[in-house]
Amino acid sequence: MSFENKAVRGRFAPTPSGRMHLGNAFSALVAWLSARAAGGSMMLRIEDLDPRAQSREQAELLMDDLRWLGLDWDEGPYFQSDRSEIYREALDELREKGLTYPCFCSRAELHAATAPHASDGTPVYAGTCRGLSDAEVARRATLRPPATRLRVPDEEDPSGTITFVDLAYGAHQEVLARECGDFLVRRSDGVVAYQLAVVVDDALMGVTQVVRGRDLLGSCARQIYLGGLLGYPAPEYGHVPLLVAPDKRRLSKRDKDLDLGVLRERGVCAARIVGTLAAAAGLCERGENVMPRELVGSFAWDAIARHQEDIVVDGDFLAGLA
Ligand code: GLU
Repeated sequence: MSFENKAVRGRFAPTPSGRMHLGNAFSALVAWLSARAAGGSMMLRIEDLDPRAQSREQAELLMDDLRWLGLDWDEGPYFQSDRSEIYREALDELREKGLTYPCFCSRAELHAATAPHASDGTPVYAGTCRGLSDAEVARRATLRPPATRLRVPDEEDPSGTITFVDLAYGAHQEVLARECGDFLVRRSDGVVAYQLAVVVDDALMGVTQVVRGRDLLGSCARQIYLGGLLGYPAPEYGHVPLLVAPDKRRLSKRDKDLDLGVLRERGVCAARIVGTLAAAAGLCERGENVMPRELVGSFAWDAIARHQEDIVVDGDFLAGLA
Protein backbone atom coordinates (compact mmCIF):
# COMPACT_ATOMS: atom_id res chain seq x y z
CA MET A 1 0.00 0.00 0.00
CA SER A 2 1.43 3.37 -0.95
CA PHE A 3 1.80 6.18 1.55
CA GLU A 4 -0.97 8.02 -0.26
CA ASN A 5 -3.44 5.22 0.40
CA LYS A 6 -2.74 5.39 4.08
CA ALA A 7 -2.81 9.16 4.49
CA VAL A 8 -5.72 10.61 6.38
CA ARG A 9 -8.06 12.62 4.22
CA GLY A 10 -10.63 14.53 6.19
CA ARG A 11 -13.40 16.87 5.17
CA PHE A 12 -15.52 19.83 6.08
CA ALA A 13 -19.10 19.29 4.90
CA PRO A 14 -21.13 22.32 5.96
CA THR A 15 -24.71 23.02 4.89
CA PRO A 16 -25.02 26.67 3.84
CA SER A 17 -28.39 27.31 5.44
CA GLY A 18 -27.17 30.08 7.70
CA ARG A 19 -24.12 31.54 9.31
CA MET A 20 -21.69 29.12 11.00
CA HIS A 21 -22.42 28.74 14.71
CA LEU A 22 -20.11 27.64 17.49
CA GLY A 23 -21.20 24.00 17.29
CA ASN A 24 -20.21 23.79 13.63
CA ALA A 25 -16.97 25.61 14.37
CA PHE A 26 -16.17 23.01 17.03
CA SER A 27 -16.77 20.05 14.68
CA ALA A 28 -14.70 21.76 12.00
CA LEU A 29 -11.87 22.40 14.47
CA VAL A 30 -11.69 18.76 15.56
CA ALA A 31 -11.97 17.49 11.96
CA TRP A 32 -9.10 19.74 10.94
CA LEU A 33 -6.92 18.90 13.97
CA SER A 34 -7.48 15.18 13.50
CA ALA A 35 -6.38 15.28 9.85
CA ARG A 36 -3.49 17.70 10.36
CA ALA A 37 -2.16 15.88 13.44
CA ALA A 38 -1.90 12.77 11.24
CA GLY A 39 -0.14 14.75 8.50
CA GLY A 40 -3.27 14.41 6.36
CA SER A 41 -5.24 16.69 4.07
CA MET A 42 -8.65 18.37 4.21
CA MET A 43 -11.31 18.71 1.56
CA LEU A 44 -14.26 21.12 1.57
CA ARG A 45 -17.67 20.13 0.31
CA ILE A 46 -20.66 22.44 0.47
CA GLU A 47 -23.78 20.37 1.19
CA ASP A 48 -26.32 22.43 -0.71
CA LEU A 49 -28.59 19.65 -1.98
CA ASP A 50 -31.71 21.12 -0.52
CA PRO A 51 -32.96 23.90 -2.76
CA ARG A 52 -33.55 25.95 0.42
CA ALA A 53 -29.84 25.76 1.24
CA GLN A 54 -28.35 26.69 -2.09
CA SER A 55 -27.12 30.15 -1.32
CA ARG A 56 -23.65 30.73 -2.77
CA GLU A 57 -23.48 33.83 -0.62
CA GLN A 58 -23.91 31.74 2.55
CA ALA A 59 -21.31 29.31 1.23
CA GLU A 60 -18.87 32.21 0.77
CA LEU A 61 -19.51 33.32 4.36
CA LEU A 62 -18.91 29.79 5.65
CA MET A 63 -15.62 29.61 3.78
CA ASP A 64 -14.62 33.01 5.06
CA ASP A 65 -15.39 31.94 8.65
CA LEU A 66 -13.35 28.73 8.27
CA ARG A 67 -10.35 30.65 6.93
CA TRP A 68 -10.71 33.29 9.62
CA LEU A 69 -10.66 30.56 12.29
CA GLY A 70 -7.40 29.27 10.80
CA LEU A 71 -9.01 26.13 9.34
CA ASP A 72 -7.70 25.69 5.82
CA TRP A 73 -8.33 23.03 3.19
CA ASP A 74 -6.35 21.56 0.33
CA GLU A 75 -9.12 20.75 -2.12
CA GLY A 76 -12.53 22.09 -3.00
CA PRO A 77 -14.98 23.62 -2.54
CA TYR A 78 -17.11 21.01 -4.23
CA PHE A 79 -20.84 21.80 -4.37
CA GLN A 80 -23.32 18.96 -4.04
CA SER A 81 -25.75 20.94 -6.20
CA ASP A 82 -23.33 20.40 -9.13
CA ARG A 83 -23.25 16.64 -8.67
CA SER A 84 -26.82 15.46 -9.36
CA GLU A 85 -25.71 13.28 -12.28
CA ILE A 86 -23.27 11.38 -10.06
CA TYR A 87 -25.97 10.68 -7.47
CA ARG A 88 -28.38 9.62 -10.20
CA GLU A 89 -25.89 7.00 -11.38
CA ALA A 90 -25.63 5.59 -7.85
CA LEU A 91 -29.44 5.52 -7.58
CA ASP A 92 -29.64 3.71 -10.92
CA GLU A 93 -27.08 1.16 -9.78
CA LEU A 94 -29.07 0.42 -6.62
CA ARG A 95 -32.32 0.19 -8.56
CA GLU A 96 -30.83 -2.14 -11.17
CA LYS A 97 -29.66 -4.42 -8.37
CA GLY A 98 -33.25 -4.54 -7.09
CA LEU A 99 -32.30 -2.82 -3.84
CA THR A 100 -34.69 0.12 -3.96
CA TYR A 101 -38.40 0.65 -4.43
CA PRO A 102 -40.78 3.59 -4.81
CA CYS A 103 -42.54 4.74 -1.65
CA PHE A 104 -45.79 6.72 -1.68
CA CYS A 105 -46.26 7.11 2.07
CA SER A 106 -47.16 10.59 3.26
CA ARG A 107 -45.44 12.30 6.14
CA ALA A 108 -48.55 11.78 8.29
CA GLU A 109 -48.54 8.03 7.56
CA LEU A 110 -44.85 7.77 8.42
CA HIS A 111 -45.28 9.54 11.73
CA ALA A 112 -48.49 7.78 12.75
CA ALA A 113 -48.57 6.83 16.41
CA THR A 114 -49.00 3.18 15.45
CA ALA A 115 -45.72 3.11 13.47
CA PRO A 116 -42.87 1.21 15.11
CA HIS A 117 -40.30 3.48 16.73
CA ALA A 118 -36.53 3.11 17.20
CA SER A 119 -34.80 3.49 20.55
CA ASP A 120 -34.35 7.23 19.97
CA GLY A 121 -38.05 7.73 19.19
CA THR A 122 -37.76 8.16 15.42
CA PRO A 123 -40.21 6.13 13.36
CA VAL A 124 -38.91 2.92 11.80
CA TYR A 125 -40.26 2.45 8.29
CA ALA A 126 -42.85 -0.30 8.48
CA GLY A 127 -42.28 -1.51 4.92
CA THR A 128 -45.71 -0.35 3.73
CA CYS A 129 -44.66 0.12 0.08
CA ARG A 130 -42.15 -2.75 -0.06
CA GLY A 131 -44.36 -5.22 -1.86
CA LEU A 132 -46.41 -3.03 -4.23
CA SER A 133 -47.08 -4.62 -7.61
CA ASP A 134 -45.91 -2.86 -10.78
CA ALA A 135 -49.53 -2.06 -11.60
CA GLU A 136 -50.11 -0.51 -8.17
CA VAL A 137 -46.91 1.55 -8.47
CA ALA A 138 -48.04 2.82 -11.87
CA ARG A 139 -51.49 3.68 -10.52
CA ARG A 140 -50.17 5.54 -7.48
CA ALA A 141 -47.55 7.37 -9.51
CA THR A 142 -50.35 9.14 -11.35
CA LEU A 143 -51.54 10.54 -8.00
CA ARG A 144 -48.28 11.67 -6.42
CA PRO A 145 -44.57 11.35 -7.14
CA PRO A 146 -42.88 8.64 -5.08
CA ALA A 147 -39.78 8.83 -2.92
CA THR A 148 -37.20 6.01 -3.22
CA ARG A 149 -36.29 3.69 -0.35
CA LEU A 150 -33.44 1.27 0.10
CA ARG A 151 -34.37 -2.21 1.29
CA VAL A 152 -32.51 -3.24 4.44
CA PRO A 153 -32.08 -6.91 5.38
CA ASP A 154 -34.60 -8.53 7.72
CA GLU A 155 -33.77 -8.50 11.41
CA GLU A 156 -32.48 -12.10 11.45
CA ASP A 157 -30.15 -11.52 8.48
CA PRO A 158 -26.65 -10.78 9.88
CA SER A 159 -25.76 -8.55 6.90
CA GLY A 160 -28.14 -5.95 8.35
CA THR A 161 -26.23 -5.73 11.63
CA ILE A 162 -23.56 -3.05 11.30
CA THR A 163 -20.67 -2.66 13.72
CA PHE A 164 -18.06 0.08 13.83
CA VAL A 165 -15.76 1.78 16.29
CA ASP A 166 -16.10 5.53 16.65
CA LEU A 167 -12.92 7.44 17.49
CA ALA A 168 -14.64 9.16 20.42
CA TYR A 169 -17.72 7.12 21.29
CA GLY A 170 -16.22 3.65 20.89
CA ALA A 171 -17.85 0.43 19.66
CA HIS A 172 -21.32 0.61 18.13
CA GLN A 173 -23.67 -1.97 16.77
CA GLU A 174 -26.91 -1.32 14.98
CA VAL A 175 -29.54 -3.61 13.50
CA LEU A 176 -30.85 -1.60 10.57
CA ALA A 177 -34.26 -3.30 10.48
CA ARG A 178 -34.82 -2.31 14.10
CA GLU A 179 -33.30 1.18 14.15
CA CYS A 180 -34.52 2.65 10.86
CA GLY A 181 -35.95 0.06 8.48
CA ASP A 182 -35.87 0.69 4.73
CA PHE A 183 -34.54 4.22 4.46
CA LEU A 184 -34.85 7.06 1.97
CA VAL A 185 -32.26 7.52 -0.74
CA ARG A 186 -34.30 10.03 -2.74
CA ARG A 187 -37.07 12.33 -1.61
CA SER A 188 -40.39 12.59 -3.38
CA ASP A 189 -39.42 16.04 -4.71
CA GLY A 190 -36.55 14.35 -6.58
CA VAL A 191 -33.78 15.61 -4.30
CA VAL A 192 -31.31 12.88 -3.43
CA ALA A 193 -31.29 12.04 0.28
CA TYR A 194 -28.44 13.18 2.48
CA GLN A 195 -27.51 9.56 3.30
CA LEU A 196 -26.85 8.70 -0.33
CA ALA A 197 -25.09 11.92 -1.31
CA VAL A 198 -22.73 11.84 1.64
CA VAL A 199 -21.73 8.22 1.04
CA VAL A 200 -21.14 8.71 -2.69
CA ASP A 201 -19.21 11.94 -2.13
CA ASP A 202 -17.03 10.70 0.70
CA ALA A 203 -16.07 7.63 -1.34
CA LEU A 204 -15.47 9.39 -4.67
CA MET A 205 -13.57 12.20 -2.96
CA GLY A 206 -11.29 9.69 -1.23
CA VAL A 207 -12.31 10.69 2.30
CA THR A 208 -10.81 8.31 4.86
CA GLN A 209 -11.99 10.04 8.03
CA VAL A 210 -15.41 11.54 8.76
CA VAL A 211 -15.50 13.87 11.77
CA ARG A 212 -18.79 15.61 12.64
CA GLY A 213 -21.31 16.31 15.38
CA ARG A 214 -22.62 13.51 17.58
CA ASP A 215 -26.13 14.02 16.17
CA LEU A 216 -24.96 12.11 13.09
CA LEU A 217 -23.61 9.09 14.96
CA GLY A 218 -26.95 7.40 14.30
CA SER A 219 -26.43 7.77 10.53
CA CYS A 220 -23.19 5.78 10.43
CA ALA A 221 -24.75 2.34 10.18
CA ARG A 222 -26.91 3.39 7.22
CA GLN A 223 -23.94 5.02 5.55
CA ILE A 224 -21.64 2.02 6.06
CA TYR A 225 -24.32 -0.33 4.73
CA LEU A 226 -25.07 1.83 1.71
CA GLY A 227 -21.38 2.26 0.95
CA GLY A 228 -20.92 -1.51 1.09
CA LEU A 229 -23.69 -2.02 -1.48
CA LEU A 230 -21.94 0.41 -3.83
CA GLY A 231 -18.58 -1.28 -3.28
CA TYR A 232 -16.98 1.49 -1.21
CA PRO A 233 -14.70 0.97 1.77
CA ALA A 234 -16.02 2.49 5.01
CA PRO A 235 -14.20 5.57 6.26
CA GLU A 236 -13.15 5.97 9.86
CA TYR A 237 -15.72 7.86 11.97
CA GLY A 238 -15.15 10.30 14.80
CA HIS A 239 -18.08 12.16 16.34
CA VAL A 240 -17.78 15.14 18.62
CA PRO A 241 -20.02 16.43 21.40
CA LEU A 242 -22.64 19.01 20.52
CA LEU A 243 -22.84 22.48 21.98
CA VAL A 244 -26.04 22.82 23.97
CA ALA A 245 -27.85 25.52 25.89
CA PRO A 246 -28.08 25.12 29.71
CA ASP A 247 -31.52 23.47 29.22
CA LYS A 248 -29.74 20.85 27.01
CA ARG A 249 -31.37 22.20 23.87
CA ARG A 250 -28.98 21.92 20.98
CA LEU A 251 -27.57 25.22 19.75
CA SER A 252 -28.86 26.01 16.34
CA LYS A 253 -29.03 28.67 13.72
CA ARG A 254 -31.70 30.31 15.89
CA ASP A 255 -29.07 31.17 18.50
CA LYS A 256 -27.96 34.10 16.44
CA ASP A 257 -25.90 35.70 19.19
CA LEU A 258 -23.54 32.72 18.98
CA ASP A 259 -22.98 32.72 15.27
CA LEU A 260 -19.64 33.64 13.86
CA GLY A 261 -21.01 36.72 12.12
CA VAL A 262 -22.17 38.24 15.39
CA LEU A 263 -19.08 37.18 17.35
CA ARG A 264 -16.79 38.65 14.71
CA GLU A 265 -18.77 41.87 14.66
CA ARG A 266 -18.46 42.05 18.44
CA GLY A 267 -14.70 41.98 17.96
CA VAL A 268 -14.10 38.53 19.51
CA CYS A 269 -10.85 37.28 17.97
CA ALA A 270 -10.43 33.88 16.30
CA ALA A 271 -7.87 32.69 18.85
CA ARG A 272 -10.31 33.37 21.67
CA ILE A 273 -13.08 31.37 20.00
CA VAL A 274 -10.74 28.49 19.19
CA GLY A 275 -9.28 28.61 22.71
CA THR A 276 -12.74 28.53 24.32
CA LEU A 277 -13.90 25.59 22.19
CA ALA A 278 -10.65 23.69 22.63
CA ALA A 279 -10.64 24.20 26.40
CA ALA A 280 -14.23 22.94 26.66
CA ALA A 281 -13.07 19.71 24.98
CA GLY A 282 -9.96 19.40 27.12
CA LEU A 283 -7.59 20.24 24.27
CA CYS A 284 -5.99 23.21 26.02
CA GLU A 285 -6.14 25.14 29.28
CA ARG A 286 -9.05 27.45 29.94
CA GLY A 287 -8.49 31.08 29.12
CA GLU A 288 -5.81 30.43 26.50
CA ASN A 289 -5.97 32.22 23.19
CA VAL A 290 -4.81 29.72 20.60
CA MET A 291 -4.97 29.19 16.87
CA PRO A 292 -5.66 25.70 15.51
CA ARG A 293 -2.11 25.21 14.19
CA GLU A 294 -0.80 25.57 17.77
CA LEU A 295 -2.93 22.61 18.86
CA VAL A 296 -1.83 20.19 16.13
CA GLY A 297 1.16 18.83 18.05
CA SER A 298 -0.82 17.88 21.14
CA PHE A 299 -4.10 16.77 19.55
CA ALA A 300 -5.31 13.30 20.54
CA TRP A 301 -8.74 11.67 20.28
CA ASP A 302 -8.35 10.51 23.88
CA ALA A 303 -9.20 14.02 25.06
CA ILE A 304 -12.41 14.07 23.01
CA ALA A 305 -13.27 10.54 24.15
CA ARG A 306 -12.92 11.62 27.78
CA HIS A 307 -15.29 14.55 27.20
CA GLN A 308 -18.20 12.71 25.61
CA GLU A 309 -20.79 14.86 27.33
CA ASP A 310 -22.25 17.68 25.31
CA ILE A 311 -20.66 21.06 25.92
CA VAL A 312 -22.95 23.38 27.84
CA VAL A 313 -22.80 26.96 26.69
CA ASP A 314 -23.48 28.58 30.04
CA GLY A 315 -22.41 31.84 31.65
CA ASP A 316 -18.94 30.46 32.33
CA PHE A 317 -18.46 29.43 28.75
CA LEU A 318 -19.66 32.79 27.49
CA ALA A 319 -17.40 34.60 29.92
CA GLY A 320 -14.52 32.91 28.09
CA LEU A 321 -15.62 34.65 24.93
CA ALA A 322 -16.07 38.08 26.47
N1 GLU B 1 -23.90 18.79 6.09
C1 GLU B 1 -24.07 18.25 7.40
C2 GLU B 1 -24.21 19.39 8.40
O1 GLU B 1 -23.86 20.51 8.11
C3 GLU B 1 -22.91 17.37 7.82
C4 GLU B 1 -22.95 16.08 7.15
C5 GLU B 1 -21.79 15.15 7.48
O2 GLU B 1 -20.80 15.61 8.06
O3 GLU B 1 -21.89 13.98 7.15
O4 GLU B 1 -24.71 19.15 9.48
